[in-house]
Amino acid sequence: MVRDIVIYPNEILTKPTEKVDVIDKEIQNLIRDMFDTMYNAEGVGLAANQIGVPLSVMVVDTSPKEDSPPLKLVLINPEITESEGKIKYKEGCLSFPGLSVEVERSKKIKVKALNEYGEPVELILEGFPAIVFQHELDHLQGITFLDRLKNWRRRIALEKYKKLLKESQKV
Ligand code: ZN
Repeated sequence: MVRDIVIYPNEILTKPTEKVDVIDKEIQNLIRDMFDTMYNAEGVGLAANQIGVPLSVMVVDTSPKEDSPPLKLVLINPEITESEGKIKYKEGCLSFPGLSVEVERSKKIKVKALNEYGEPVELILEGFPAIVFQHELDHLQGITFLDRLKNWRRRIALEKYKKLLKESQKV
């Protein structure tokens, strides 16, 4: 089921999510809805709090991006255990419709999480999938991509976003 995507500045986007204790039917439904919602919005990643559920769950599917290896992931309680290098990329966000900003992130990361069956997984991500993962992990920690910008760049992006939001509300 496609759910509504929470739009910034909704405060659920700025609060850390809670870890999942038990992966039950409710979590399975949540994961299914997250994929439905992400595909419907043509996104490549989604965090549970972006549909109003404050739990540490993310879904990723990089296959719409042609020059990236297709990768489909469900990650529960994810964390980064190692990181190296730096990469800059102009990111979009489903919770900031129309806005894209250049963010610097780690180029290569090692990730620990549970999969949708509650099994521990460890994986190494590099390039675009690493960027998507770090963007979604930030969401789960209550951080938006604006928080990754400094001073004037953040101010300019926020002004631009406010304008976009106002224009979209006029329609
Ligand atoms: Zn986002």
